[in-house]
Amino acid sequence: MDYLWTPWRYHYVTGAAPEARKGVPAALADWPGDLGCVFCNLIAAADHAIQSGVPADSADSAAHIVHRASACFVCLNAFPYTSGHVLILPYAHESSFADLPTTTAHEIADLAQRMERIFAQLYRPHGVNLGMNLGEAAGAGVAGHLHLHALPRWAGDTNFMTTLAETRILPEDLDTTYLRIRKAFQGE
Ligand SMILES: [Zn+2]
Repeated sequence: MDYLWTPWRYHYVTGAAPEARKGVPAALADWPGDLGCVFCNLIAAADHAIQSGVPADSADSAAHIVHRASACFVCLNAFPYTSGHVLILPYAHESSFADLPTTTAHEIADLAQRMERIFAQLYRPHGVNLGMNLGEAAGAGVAGHLHLHALPRWAGDTNFMTTLAETRILPEDLDTTYLRIRKAFQGE
């Protein structure tokens, strides 16, 4: 489980290069800013691209954003990648779940329910992990911006998951997962 839940190698979350401006997808590098947070950079770079005329679908695809809700969005966790692993998080840079506006907290719960349904529909897993690490001591790699992990699980993958095991359990690449989950949200 340590491999899945800690430590988040944030510069890999979106597949961006491991230098400054963590979280800015390579395809959206036109955005010149740096908010010092992988998730804030991710959403800002995607929004900047859209405001610059890039089709929203293309910008969100480059950022691996599978769904946008009112106060929160859902994106793929690209590394360490296990098939279907997504993050549900507020657009706002907030570290405490307790301090979130109630509507935002409820939207996270709503999106978690939808992801559980989508996992069942797409992957028929044996189980699902839904969880949040609040604070570095709890294992959060991006402690300043809370995010809920949602991922499908299969019997036999509970203790450790090697690359080989992941491949055996569900051989699906990131782009395929992206399209399937995005389509599932649109088709609900
Ligand atoms: Zn942030």
